[in-house]
Amino acid sequence: MLSKVVIANRGEIALRILRACRELGIKTVAVHSEADRDLKHVRLADESVCIGPASSELSYLNIPAIISAAEVTDAVAIHPGYGFLSENADFAERVEDSGFIFIGPSPESIRIMGDKVAAIEAMKSAGVPCVPGSDGPLGDDNDENQRLANKIGYPIIIKAAGGGGGRGMRVVNSDATLSNSIMLTKQEAGTFFGNNMVYMEKYLETPRHVEIQVLADGQGNAIHLGERDCSMQRRHQKVVEEAPAPGITPRQRKKIGQRCVDACNKIKYRGAGTFEFLYQDGEFYFIEMNTRIQVEHPVTEMVTGVDIIKEQLYIASGEKLRYRQSDIEIRGHAIECRINAEHPRTFMPSPGTIERYHPPGGPGIRIDTHIYGGYTVPPHYDSMIGKLIAYGCNRDVAIARMLGALDEISITGINTNIELHKEIISDANFQAGGVNIHYLEKKLGL
Ligand code: ADP
Repeated sequence: MLSKVVIANRGEIALRILRACRELGIKTVAVHSEADRDLKHVRLADESVCIGPASSELSYLNIPAIISAAEVTDAVAIHPGYGFLSENADFAERVEDSGFIFIGPSPESIRIMGDKVAAIEAMKSAGVPCVPGSDGPLGDDNDENQRLANKIGYPIIIKAAGGGGGRGMRVVNSDATLSNSIMLTKQEAGTFFGNNMVYMEKYLETPRHVEIQVLADGQGNAIHLGERDCSMQRRHQKVVEEAPAPGITPRQRKKIGQRCVDACNKIKYRGAGTFEFLYQDGEFYFIEMNTRIQVEHPVTEMVTGVDIIKEQLYIASGEKLRYRQSDIEIRGHAIECRINAEHPRTFMPSPGTIERYHPPGGPGIRIDTHIYGGYTVPPHYDSMIGKLIAYGCNRDVAIARMLGALDEISITGINTNIELHKEIISDANFQAGGVNIHYLEKKLGL
């Protein structure tokens, strides 16, 4: 097993990684910005190193500072968490070149999946179903692009190959606006992602977001841990997630899960990963792969009993996968609400000092959070301050427990979106299950 791990992240995921390391007897190094000295995991870690000022650019994205922290503390591996450098192939490469283990896939895997055109190509050749599209980057020939769009059928969506975070996309409804939209998306892509390559896909109008969690050891063994439904979104940001996805049959799960496992083997994938799909009219359409741990991993942990972060650590230490597919059984139902420090209606971020915090409890309730009474949420980072997870033997029980926990939890001194979560979980259509990705924005009148 790894002897000492640098946790190159902050907030709840840093604490989550620390807990997994402790369970496995791994020593931990917290690296933090000047604004984050009071983070819970910084206090709990065996060692801590301040890597720069509050600005992410100068701290959590500061590759030389993170690598030197690993050097001075004699760590052997670096866990990137999610966000920040977690999907930066150059970072993974520099970590490996400096003699450390990157807890994640190879730089090559990250690089392929970070280029959506290359990712779709790799998935297609591995037999994963994709959205009908241009099968490659778009050129400047307008007639050819129109021919493609009509073949696919409007509406279509123009997407940046290097895009992320829901940016660099444009829906087009007819030939009239096609060439202009391609040009604008190219310009944006060049500015934001430093790569002006764009491609075309059929625009699915009422899809759900369903994703498959995988684990692979890079030694020829891969499994899937079933799916999550993350359709409750605002501005392409997930708000509520659940596992399993309502209405997905064991047969569908097995079939799409196996395709993802085959793809992992084909690309020699190593570590935890997620295949994201749009799901409409009973069909799955691959949109992208995330080559890291995801925010919503706990719902999968609750229904499978697999600790995904611990498995990342085992895989990084060179062990063979400790589970076979036949060991994985989906039991019960889990729902996660992302708790953000923001106004529940205007979504204005609400950093500041938490006066009091009373966590909820009881059977099936899990809360992954770094906050405590007296903790000050800094204004410099993402507004998510924790995740409330409810598990039950079935979806109705999970919903009832979540509603109870949302009533019980109390965070004062800052605004949070807890009231919004009460509305969502009480919503009749959410309770019926299977709403599409536009549902929340429609409900909010956005
Ligand atoms: P990002 O990397 O920016 O998150 P994705 O490819 O995952 O980009 O797409 C983000 C979101 O954009 C999806 O969750 C979905 O809401 C929407 N989207 C992307 N492609 C399509 C499509 N072909 N049809 C409909 N919606 C799409």
